[in-house]
Amino acid sequence: MHALCLSCVKLRRRIAPFIFAVLFFLALPPAGAQTEQAYASARERMVAGQIEARGIKHPSVLRAMLKVPRHQFVPDGLRALAYEDTALPIGEGQTISQPYMVALMTELINPRPDMKVLEIGTGSGYQAAILAELCRSVYTVEIVEVLAKRAGRLLSRLYPNVHVRIGDGYGGWPEAAPFDAVLVTCAPTSVPRPLIEQLREGGKMVIPVGAPGNQKLYVLTKKKGRLQQQAVIDVLFVPMLNSKGIRY
Ligand code: SAH
Repeated sequence: MHALCLSCVKLRRRIAPFIFAVLFFLALPPAGAQTEQAYASARERMVAGQIEARGIKHPSVLRAMLKVPRHQFVPDGLRALAYEDTALPIGEGQTISQPYMVALMTELINPRPDMKVLEIGTGSGYQAAILAELCRSVYTVEIVEVLAKRAGRLLSRLYPNVHVRIGDGYGGWPEAAPFDAVLVTCAPTSVPRPLIEQLREGGKMVIPVGAPGNQKLYVLTKKKGRLQQQAVIDVLFVPMLNSKGIRY
């Protein structure tokens, strides 16, 4: 009896570490959930350190930046950098804008849930996703077919209120006009007239204007058919090109 109990204790001692190990692994979240948690923490650091720290205050813009999975909008090999304070290449010589720039441009249109917004330059689709969190519907135009298709696939899974079109955004999207706001993420050297026409009275357009090295971000407000303009900061965006690759 005594001997039996002793071996029981020894056996228990031996298997105890295994039991602990099994319990430990059962208590861990699955690998995917762990990664998602790490991305969520990276988003919190991004919003606190890059966005709120630089003066973005609009609560729903901050909420959207905390929510949208930016890592899904960058190429697989660059996911580890998705929440860094920088623009990143997305292929075809184009880039996804720096998180702060996305937040700033979004705040400048003063987004509301009843708004219909036009974006020119879909790129990765990330800016459209942020707008889709905040506005009723988003119409976005991209001239590079591969990018438009890739962003379209991702956005149709995540945001059914985003409509993507392949084409030259200089002409806007006349069938869906007027828009409550227009957000342009490629830079022409002057504001395209069709985009002004498709902006609703009282609406705002946020647009980088100028040649590389000499660009400013403007907020234009349409008042009584005329534009009030305010220069915000110096910026560096890719140029707005026509279908022959010539700069507007
Ligand atoms: N908003 C994007 C950033 C894209 S960079 C994002 O969140 O990732 C600018 C994009 O504008 C590029 O993808 C480029 O191909 C596109 N572009 C340039 N000229 C254009 C034009 N005339 N019409 C539509 N898109 C254009």
